[in-house]
Amino acid sequence: MADEPQILRDLLRRGLDLGASVAGYLPADHLRDCPSALEAGPQGFRTYSGTVVVLGLYHDPAQPEMDWWEEGRGTPGDRMLRQINLALAAWLRDEHGIAARDIPYQVDDGGIYLKDAAVYAGLGYIGRNNLVIHPDFGPRLRFRALWVDIRSEQTDRPVPERRCDACGHPCETECPQNALEGGRYSRTRCLARMDADKASAARIRDETGKLAPADHCRICELVCPT
Ligand code: SF4
Ligand code: SF4
Repeated sequence: MADEPQILRDLLRRGLDLGASVAGYLPADHLRDCPSALEAGPQGFRTYSGTVVVLGLYHDPAQPEMDWWEEGRGTPGDRMLRQINLALAAWLRDEHGIAARDIPYQVDDGGIYLKDAAVYAGLGYIGRNNLVIHPDFGPRLRFRALWVDIRSEQTDRPVPERRCDACGHPCETECPQNALEGGRYSRTRCLARMDADKASAARIRDETGKLAPADHCRICELVCPT
């Protein structure tokens, strides 16, 4: 049987082959006291042994439908990531007899603080727009995680160059809610916009009576020059 670090490397490679744009991992225990947990309370996922693998999928602004959200179904981009996770879990079970499980997207549904996890996994840094900024994909990634019953160590990751300090921060000036005023993210103001986006989608039905998906605000992501 391959050693566990090798299995993790193979797993990341397989995730990329299946369509993920980026992949990394961290010991699950690192999320116990991550910044979001300290600020907002414990995450929904409470397994702190093993490893969390984080996959990111590039969301091309030319394909906005990847990010359209439907009640009970999430977004097409998130469903793609979930399918990759399920395939990886099946491979781990069948090839190595190792347990793994897909982690729900939302913290309230048993999920983790995905942005913290992505940073610990070396996939970027938190920008002034409160999004993970990757050196190649900027803030245009969505993440999902897979828990794997393998012990791992945190390894040193190269720290990406932080570009916000030399930027005129259009993310802040163009936010319709003033939710990034002074470089500090207001969850309350941003969520008010998300709720309004959902409410306006709930007023539109197609010819079959199906509700339109919500096209959430992405201004702070799309104006970012990285
Ligand atoms: S728009 Fe500029 S300040 Fe805002 S997140 Fe992007 S690089 Fe950072
Ligand atoms: S998603 Fe929209 S409302 Fe929320 S911080 Fe970004 S620009 Fe502002």
